[in-house]
Amino acid sequence: MRKHNFNSGPSILPQEVLEQAADAIKNFNGINLSLLEIGHRSKWFVDVMEEARNLVKELMQLNENFEVLFLHGGATTQFMQIPLNLLNNHETAAYCDNGIWGSKAINEASVFGNVNIVASSKEKNYTYINKNFDIPTNSKYLHLTSNNTVEGTQWHQFPTTSVPLIADMSSDIFSRKIDFKSFSLMYAGAQKNMGAAGVSLVVVNKNILGKNSRKIPAIMDYQNHINANSLLNTPPVFAIYVALLTLRWIKKEGGLAAMEKRAEEKSSLLYNTIDNFPIYTTYVEKADRSKMNAVFFIEDENLQNKFLEECNNNSMIGVKGYRTVGGIRVSMYNALPYESVAAISQLMTNFAIKHG
Ligand SMILES: *Cc1c(COP(=O)(O)O)cnc(C)c1O
Repeated sequence: MRKHNFNSGPSILPQEVLEQAADAIKNFNGINLSLLEIGHRSKWFVDVMEEARNLVKELMQLNENFEVLFLHGGATTQFMQIPLNLLNNHETAAYCDNGIWGSKAINEASVFGNVNIVASSKEKNYTYINKNFDIPTNSKYLHLTSNNTVEGTQWHQFPTTSVPLIADMSSDIFSRKIDFKSFSLMYAGAQKNMGAAGVSLVVVNKNILGKNSRKIPAIMDYQNHINANSLLNTPPVFAIYVALLTLRWIKKEGGLAAMEKRAEEKSSLLYNTIDNFPIYTTYVEKADRSKMNAVFFIEDENLQNKFLEECNNNSMIGVKGYRTVGGIRVSMYNALPYESVAAISQLMTNFAIKHG
C-alpha cells in the first residue's frame, strides 16, 4: 500500500502520473526509445514542450501577452533572475516579507537594486499576512509569496495596485482559481504542485521586459528564453515531461475549480480537527490559514515526538515541521487524496482523546 504522503516538497504525485512517467523512461510513446534518449530539439520533445506550455496558458486563462518558460535552477534562481532582469541599480522594488522564502527573495533583490519592504509579519514569526499597506507607485514591481510553505499562511486576497505584481507560487500553483492575468510574473518550482524537481515554471507578461539597462548574461535573460521557446540550452526534459503529465491530470480531474474544491474540503477537515482539540495549537491567523500547508504544535515536546512517531508507525510521512520552525506540518497538495487527510484527522482525534 502507498504511504500517506504529507511531504512538503518534493511531494506526492498522482499514481497515474508516476506510472506514465515510468513508461516513458522505458519506451516513450511507443517509439522504442526512452524519453531520456531523445534530442530536446526533436519533434517528439518539442511537442511535449508545446503541449505543456499550452496547458499552462489554458489552465491560467492567459492571453497572448503571456509567455510560458520552463527553466533550470528552481524557484531560488528566480529570486535572483527577477531583479537581474527587471530592477536597475538605482530603482526600488517593493517586497512583502511574510516568510522564509520571501525573505530569501529580498536578500537576492538587494544585490541588484533597492528593496522597500512594504509589508512584513516578521515581528509575529510570520503568522499572518499583512492587510492594508502602502505600495509606492514608483516601485518597479511588488513581490510576494502566494503561499508560505514553511509558516502555513496564504494570500486569500491579493493587493490591488498599479505596480506590476510578481508572485512566487511554488507551493500553491494550480490549486485554486485566481486572476492570473493580473500578475506580471509568476513562478514556481515544479516539485510541490506540478511535478518532479528539476524544472521551474516562469510565466511572464512580455510587456514588463526590455526596460532594463543592465547587461544580463545570456542564459539569465528571459527574452532569450522566450525567443528560443525554452530551448536556449538543454532543458530538464524529464522534469518537463512529468510536469506535462501532471498538467494533463489536473485538466482531466476538472481543472483549477476541482483542485480548489478538493483543497477546501481537505483543509477544512484538518483545521476543524486542530480546532476541536486544545492539545493542538496553531499560531497562524485564522483568516490567513494556508489550504496547502497546515502548521501546528503540541506544546509538550515529548508528546509531540510521540505524535510524530505514531504518524510514522501508521505510514504517514513528511509530517515533521520545517527545521527552523519545528512542530507539525501537514502538506495537502493537489495530488493528496482526501482519504489521507481523513486518516491523519482520525489519528489526531484518537491521539487527543488519549493524551488531551
Ligand atoms: C520550496 C519553495 C522554494 C524553493 O524552491 P527550490 O525549487 O528548491 O529553489 C521557494 N519558494 C517557495 C514558496 C517554496 O515553497
